[in-house]
Amino acid sequence: MSLRFHNTLTQQTQEFQPLEGNLVRMYTCGPTVYDYAHIGNFRTFVFYDILRRWLRLSGYKLDHVMNITDVDDKIIRNATKLGQSLKEYTDTYTKAFLDDCATLRLERPERLARATEHIPQMAAAIKQLEDDGFTYRSDGSIYFRIAKFPEYGKLSHNDFSGIVAGARVDVDEYDKNDARDFALWKAPKPGEFNWDTEIGVGRPGWHIECSVMAVQYLGATLDLHAGGVDLVFPHHENEIAQSEALTGKQFARYWVHSEFLLVDGQKMSKSLGNFYTLRDLFAKGFTPESLRYLLASVPYRKGLNFTFDGLTSSKTAIERLRTFKHRIDSAKLAPGTNDTVAGQAAAAIHQFREAMDDDLNTAEALGAVFEFLREANTSLDAGGFLEGNRAGAQELMNRFEAVFEVLVPAEQAGALPPEEIETLIAARTAAKKGRDFAKADAIRNELLEKGVILEDTKEGVRWKRK
Ligand code: AMP
Ligand code: ZN
Repeated sequence: MSLRFHNTLTQQTQEFQPLEGNLVRMYTCGPTVYDYAHIGNFRTFVFYDILRRWLRLSGYKLDHVMNITDVDDKIIRNATKLGQSLKEYTDTYTKAFLDDCATLRLERPERLARATEHIPQMAAAIKQLEDDGFTYRSDGSIYFRIAKFPEYGKLSHNDFSGIVAGARVDVDEYDKNDARDFALWKAPKPGEFNWDTEIGVGRPGWHIECSVMAVQYLGATLDLHAGGVDLVFPHHENEIAQSEALTGKQFARYWVHSEFLLVDGQKMSKSLGNFYTLRDLFAKGFTPESLRYLLASVPYRKGLNFTFDGLTSSKTAIERLRTFKHRIDSAKLAPGTNDTVAGQAAAAIHQFREAMDDDLNTAEALGAVFEFLREANTSLDAGGFLEGNRAGAQELMNRFEAVFEVLVPAEQAGALPPEEIETLIAARTAAKKGRDFAKADAIRNELLEKGVILEDTKEGVRWKRK
């Protein structure tokens, strides 16, 4: 069976096919950079990463845009309080976010798009919506008139036809019981950051950035749009209204939403104060791989209850996988191929793919890997795992790693490989022989900077990592 996703728009699990050939145009809603992201946010970003990887491993090319929301009420308030420019303030948290993504081994989208770098485009889009009669002005702000878009509610499956026309909302986040005309452009407030544009002075509401940047980079119709489930209403509903009013075309064909990371049954969030950042977890001695594994191991449409026991179990699972990988890579094996073991490896590879194709069922994919691990360990212990079985087992582990990427410890990932270290040591020894001590010292320092310490002994040069 081929790749299927649960589509929030149709409320069905559907076979995935991009519109054009094997190119997937996708958009995901990114962070609001007003503070460090918490691991609840990273559940959603890890989901984007798994989605990206599986699409790529399924043979698709990706054009993936993710926005960085670097203007909103909280950002403006905090930057003003600190006497910083918006850019100064948001650069700190954008960098922290990208560093955290790298630490969790999240693939970079093809494009990151900052809201503040698209203000004129947003103003132009709002102007067009005005010209086409989708908006009205009130007290210096511009609102989208949802009554002009009869399909409003089609993503969140709500019937908003009875709501009071002309009731407005100025905040960006609100409940579906509070469906109102929403702000596309907000009136300037004295002493705050504003932009002077063709539609006047002010600043954009939150929703318009995603419509504008998605259509600018990916065209009127996206293959796939993803986000956390809290974005279905109002954010994604509003994105659809704006984009489809602008282009007259379907905005996104597949809408895919991930469930929350929970703490004691409640959403992990800044406002509840029940959150941890990556920094908090590392300070407690947990590794990035343990968190990545935990967040990836539960299928994205299931709530995931965060506990430290869960993180510890992830650590144990990773250790088992690493030990197994080491065993199949280095075991001395008798010649030949055991057909039973070969069949088990082939079945596990097949089940892994089937599970991932089934709406990214990571739990079942892991189940297939662990079942094989148990079978193969039993065969290895009994001498029934032969040289001809090595490649099949390695193939399964490679496929696992291409999605989950937790086998190489963080302290070794990105480190200088041993061959390069040996080459540099040989060059240093040659330099010393030629009495070029400056060069020899320079090589020693270069290695030190890359975390490798040299020790000159009677038996020659030994090295170790810091
Ligand atoms: P924000 O930075 O608040 O705009 O949120 C960034 C992303 O994190 C959004 O896609 C949210 O849906 C997602 N998010 C926020 N809290 C959680 C949570 N507890 N679990 C999963 N995703 C979350
Ligand atoms: Zn968005």
